[in-house]
Amino acid sequence: MTTEIRPAAVEVHDVHKWYGAHRVLDGVDLTVQPGEVTVILGPSGSGKSTLLRVINHLEKPEIGYVSLNGELIGVRRHGERLKELSERAILAQRSRIGFVFQNFNLFPHLTVLDNVAAAPVATGLLRKPEALELARTLLGRVGLADKSGAYPRQLSGGQQQRVAIARALALRPGVILFDEPTSALDPELVGEVLAVIKDLARSGTTLIIVTHEIGFAREVADRIVFVDGGRVVEEGPPADILDRPQHQRTREFLSKVL
Ligand code: ADP
Ligand code: MG
Repeated sequence: MTTEIRPAAVEVHDVHKWYGAHRVLDGVDLTVQPGEVTVILGPSGSGKSTLLRVINHLEKPEIGYVSLNGELIGVRRHGERLKELSERAILAQRSRIGFVFQNFNLFPHLTVLDNVAAAPVATGLLRKPEALELARTLLGRVGLADKSGAYPRQLSGGQQQRVAIARALALRPGVILFDEPTSALDPELVGEVLAVIKDLARSGTTLIIVTHEIGFAREVADRIVFVDGGRVVEEGPPADILDRPQHQRTREFLSKVL
């Protein structure tokens, strides 16, 4: 029997990040395997968005590194200088990470179809006709085939977020990061966005999702990571973290959101 050893999709190793004297990430370790769905829970200000931004190389850690599929994208570890990647290499790796934001961040002057097709063309992944074809397929997948000619302002928040998910998929990312993807939505629009994310989870896409939707987390997560004060307090399968939390801080947080 041969055992295939695959590198982790994402590995965050001992990441420290601070702004001035304010320590926002205080030694975070996180390993996400290909196809795994990780939900990050934690109070406001605990460093969840910063962690996603470090993974996406929008922020550089002061200490620690991040690797994607075994390729290092971080910089330093305990003062030791690791080889810095070129801007080009960083951009290449970032293009393999999808990022879905709370506020959709669609291009307002582009149609829905062009929003989805733009990045694969800009990064040279596809020519325009192929990108448009892919965009049509992806809009079908998020249930918006009939909206391709619309502009973002003509869509509901839930529809805009589904376009943002299709846009993230267009780069065929190795992992998609979601930062509170339903927090800006009216309650009646949350379900349609969660349904699309659930569909991605079931299809084996590697996902890291920051959310306060506990019921959704329970359903979709392979693993829940509870973060507080810039540290991972505890992690494990949803049933362990949600029903049998080991730490007082986790219990306090859950008692507020459940
Ligand atoms: P969360 O997403 O868990 O709410 P964040 O990662 O956004 O937390 O922020 C963690 C802490 O870092 C907060 O106290 C926030 O004010 C601070 N912070 C985040 N970004 C910056 C920044 N660019 N400059 C200074 N402080 C920041
Ligand atoms: Mg945040």
